[in-house]
Amino acid sequence: MPPTQHKDYYGLLGVKKTATPEEIRKAFRKLARKYHPDVNPGDKKSEEKFKEISEANDILSDEKKRKIYDQFGFYSDQIDPAAAEAAARSGRGSHSAQQEGAPFDFGGFDFSEEAPGAASGGQGWGNFRDIFSGMFSRDRAAQAEGPQPGTDLEYQVNVDFWTAIRGGVARPEIQRQEVCVTCHGRSTMGGTQTCPECHGTGQVTQMGGRMKFNIQCPRCGGTGKVQNPCPTCHGEGVLYRTEPLEFRIKPGTRDGQRIRLAGKGNAGLHGGAPGDLYLIIRTGTHPVFTRTGDDIHLTLPVTVSEAALGGRIDVPTIDGRAQLRIPPGTQSGQKLRMRERGVPSATKEGTRGDEIVTVEVAVPQVRDERSREILKEFAKLNPEDPRESIWAKV
Ligand SMILES: [Zn+2]
Ligand SMILES: [Zn+2]
Repeated sequence: MPPTQHKDYYGLLGVKKTATPEEIRKAFRKLARKYHPDVNPGDKKSEEKFKEISEANDILSDEKKRKIYDQFGFYSDQIDPAAAEAAARSGRGSHSAQQEGAPFDFGGFDFSEEAPGAASGGQGWGNFRDIFSGMFSRDRAAQAEGPQPGTDLEYQVNVDFWTAIRGGVARPEIQRQEVCVTCHGRSTMGGTQTCPECHGTGQVTQMGGRMKFNIQCPRCGGTGKVQNPCPTCHGEGVLYRTEPLEFRIKPGTRDGQRIRLAGKGNAGLHGGAPGDLYLIIRTGTHPVFTRTGDDIHLTLPVTVSEAALGGRIDVPTIDGRAQLRIPPGTQSGQKLRMRERGVPSATKEGTRGDEIVTVEVAVPQVRDERSREILKEFAKLNPEDPRESIWAKV
């Protein structure tokens, strides 16, 4: 059997991985009728295709071979089916892990037959080397050449208390990756140089379990040469650039709000789409007002007589002074709501939050004899015990 490269046999036959033997047989017969050399005399492409689907059918129609292929992503006569099953049971060397470039574990293989061949440079080892070099270079090459989307960026933008409420403009500096202006993201301007990874040999040594083996250099794909890196971006294909950004802050913008600017994230590679930019708004605080959503909270000191007798007092709001009626007998800690004196909503047009005033009774410092007498007299006139309800409960 010739050295086997990783091939998508299921894809070649156009069947699912869960396909039954009958489905595989039917798919192969259908394709064979189309690509058979007798039907396409002298057509090299059809001949090649016919060979491929025959190989796929050969592996997938044989239960033992299919098991090995499912487990390792390729088939080789040198793999003991029992070893494949053992690997499957222990979850090692699964097909998907291998495709992600995870280290391949040889623990489950039985090399007893091949070992002598290896020592004399026989074909047993040669085959394995070819198998792995083929697989590795395929995966890496695909990764390097295909378009890769840019990553998203997230920035925190601090906005002061008043700008968040009234709206305005924020001008944060954003550092992002941009497509290189020199190579336009191609990473090279042409020309080649010796591969720095393998120093031109085209092969690198890898460890697989307890074994060492040479594989095709993933950096240059075994050619020993790599393309000259672009002098501007040093082969990265992107440049880091800090740029000022300007965007409008809507009136009523809340703390923690996320703003998405599509396509303003990092540049993609090799023609990939750019990522998005997310701005997280952090609103500033105020020495007097506390903002919760669209509501404004305020602690307001009132005198004993204002709290006891009630009255109208001036209260600061985000629009300036406003009058608040204090009901007679207002207690310290009581909350009074001033409807629609809060922040205009950024999402619901025409609506506003409230201002919630927490009353804090300021107890007077008595310094003169007259005030002292008045308070004593007041106490005599009002002998009720404010702790009465507490005593009743203990
Ligand atoms: Zn460049
Ligand atoms: Zn190399």
